[in-house]
Amino acid sequence: MPSAQRDFYEVLSIARDASPEDIKRAYRKLAMEYHPDRNSSEDAAERFKEINRAYEVLSDTDKRSAYDRFGHAGVDGAGGPAGFDGFSTFDGFGDIFDAFFSGAGRGGRRRGPARGSDLRAQITLTFEEAAFGTEKELDYTRLEHCEECSGSGAATGSQPEVCPECNGAGEIRRAQQSVFGQFVNVSTCGRCRGEGRVVTNPCDNCRGRGGVRRARQISVKIPPGVDDGQQVRLTGEGEVGDRGGQPGNLYVLLDVQPHGLFERIDDHILYDLPLNLAQAALGTDLKIPTLEGNIDFDVPAGTQSGDEFTIRGQGVPRLNSTRRGDMIVRATVVVPESLTEEQQVLLKQLADTLGTPSLPSRHKSFLERLRDAVAG
Ligand SMILES: [Zn+2]
Ligand SMILES: [Zn+2]
Repeated sequence: MPSAQRDFYEVLSIARDASPEDIKRAYRKLAMEYHPDRNSSEDAAERFKEINRAYEVLSDTDKRSAYDRFGHAGVDGAGGPAGFDGFSTFDGFGDIFDAFFSGAGRGGRRRGPARGSDLRAQITLTFEEAAFGTEKELDYTRLEHCEECSGSGAATGSQPEVCPECNGAGEIRRAQQSVFGQFVNVSTCGRCRGEGRVVTNPCDNCRGRGGVRRARQISVKIPPGVDDGQQVRLTGEGEVGDRGGQPGNLYVLLDVQPHGLFERIDDHILYDLPLNLAQAALGTDLKIPTLEGNIDFDVPAGTQSGDEFTIRGQGVPRLNSTRRGDMIVRATVVVPESLTEEQQVLLKQLADTLGTPSLPSRHKSFLERLRDAVAG
C-alpha cells in the first residue's frame, strides 16, 4: 500500500459535501479521460486506478462515512486498490477482459494509415435488464468509407499519388548543424500527414477525405450481471481509419437505473422489509417481492430491527458465471407515529407487563460481513 495516498475528494476534484450525483459525474468524466485504452500517457493507468479507488469509496455511503471520519485508515483493506475492477470493460459479444492493462502500452507509435477514432455512447438499462441481460438497439453516427471512392479519397478513375514533398516516405529528414555537430531531424510530412500519398483529384462525394458520416444502428447484447458504470467494448464499431486504417472501437457506458425496492451490492440485492411491532414480536407469514415475483416469507417471532435474512440465489446473476448472488431481507420495525385511543390503552397494558428491556445481541450486518470477506 503506498504510504502517500491522495485525498479521495481531491482525486475526483469534488467538494467534501458533493452529492452522489456529483461524485458519479466527476468519476465518469475522469474515468473517460484516464482510461488506459484512450490515454497513452505514462501515468494514465496509475491515475485510473486512483480514480477508481476514490470512486469505490466515495460512492458507497458506508465507506464514505468511514473515510470522512478516519481517512484512508478507515477504508484500507476493504477491497484495496490493487484488485479493484469497478470500471471493467468487456467485449460486447461475451468475453470479459481486464480493462486496466490490455489497453495500456498500446497505441504509442503507429505506422501506416491512422486507426479510426474510438467513439463513446451510453445505454440506459433498468435494474432488471442489467440483472438478467438484454439486447438494445443503439443509434449513433460514425465515419464510414465513402462508397464512391472506396475510401481512397481520389475521384473515380484516379488514384492517390506519391507525395511530392516526401517522395512517399511519409517523413522529412533534415540535416541540422548544431554546436555538438550535425544531426538528422526527422519529422512527419505535413503535406501527406505521414501517409506517403496525396489525393490530387479529390472525390466529390467525400471531398477527398475517404469517409462520410453516416447514421447507424446496431444491436448491443448486454450479458446478465452487468452493473452501473461498466462499459461494453464493441471492437471495430468506431470510425473507419484514414484510407485503409483499422477502424476504432465503440465504447458503450452502461447507466443502470436504481430499483424502487431493491438495492444492489455486487451480485446481491438488499430488500428492506417494514414490520409493525406485533409482527416483529409474534412473527408472521407474509409475501415479499423478489426480482421474479412474490414469494412467501416467514418472519420469526422476536425479530429485531436490522435483523437480516438471506435468501440464497435470489440476487443478481454473476457476470459470465452461472452463479447468482443472494437476496438479503433486512427487517425494520416501524414504531407507529400516531395511535387511536384504543391502541394506546392496549399498548399501555402491554407496557406494564413488559418492563424494561435489555439490548438484543447484535449480529454483524450484511455489509459488515461483505467487507470482512473482501478484506480476507
Ligand atoms: Zn508526404
Ligand atoms: Zn469519396
